Amino acid sequence: MSNNHFSIAIHGGAGTILRSSMTAELQAQYEQGLRSALDTGYAILQAGGSSLDAVEAAVASLEDFPLFNAGCGAVFNNKGGHEMDAAIMYGKTLEAGGVCGISHVRNPVKLARAVMQHSGHVLLAGQGAEEFARLQHLPMEDDAYFYTEQRYKQWQEALKEDVVQLDHTDKKYGTVGAVALDKAGNLAAATSTGGLTNKKYGRVGDSPIPGAGTYANNNTCAISCTGVGELFIRSVVSYDISCLIEYKGLSLKDACQLVVHDKLVKIGGEGGLIAIDKYGNIEMPFNSEGMYRACRDSRGRNEVLIYKTSTP
Ligand code: ASP
Repeated sequence: MSNNHFSIAIHGGAGTILRSSMTAELQAQYEQGLRSALDTGYAILQAGGSSLDAVEAAVASLEDFPLFNAGCGAVFNNKGGHEMDAAIMYGKTLEAGGVCGISHVRNPVKLARAVMQHSGHVLLAGQGAEEFARLQHLPMEDDAYFYTEQRYKQWQEALKEDVVQLDHTDKKYGTVGAVALDKAGNLAAATSTGGLTNKKYGRVGDSPIPGAGTYANNNTCAISCTGVGELFIRSVVSYDISCLIEYKGLSLKDACQLVVHDKLVKIGGEGGLIAIDKYGNIEMPFNSEGMYRACRDSRGRNEVLIYKTSTP
């Protein structure tokens, strides 16, 4: 079925991202972080690599970039620690792996892939997940690695006001994700996040849950979400879009439009997602002010975007 067309899209979170609160220097840094992750994934696809390798490498690159809320830039929880969630899914086999509430794994997306391929399970949590990471010889880090001054200040402010915040006080959800179609026609999706600033009680968001924040199915599409996790779980966002394509025959664009700009909005679900269908079409819809996003395909599309464009 494949015509050798390939494509990749990534995100670094959605939210109230306004030009007025951005400096040129900071914007350049964000764009550079997105560009580098995008090109890392694209190079793998171009060389004939799998979509699974491409999304894992792109997300790992975003996890290593401190401005995004994942990996080394993960936000602080209520106890002053970090609890990260991640998932990966392969559209060819519907295999999926996820981790939640982990604190010391350098690249949670790599652990999610190890869970998928080597654990015999789909979702591992907390200490057990970290024990499995050690058995898999994945790089571990101490608490200091996950400290960034910007996140610490956010947490202090959230603590003072006793609120649970979505990444920034300006409501930016800095979760990262990637979706890809490879030359063989296989789709994959991956998502990684630090969750919400000041979160309590072992809260887990949509990112590590297949069908909510992350989904891939060769019959339909691959999706990675960012936004208020609770609403994305309740809306089963990524599976809903896949179902609209599979059972109702909607195009990727129409399915995304219905879920992001209608169904989610009606229940107050702010955020967005990146999606690629089995033909390689790319959609990057969001109902918030902005979304860090980028995409590139073998037909020449190549974009790094932050704000709303005139044609949403
Ligand atoms: N969806 C993530 C969560 O609820 C947050 C985000 O997108 O930044 O954990």
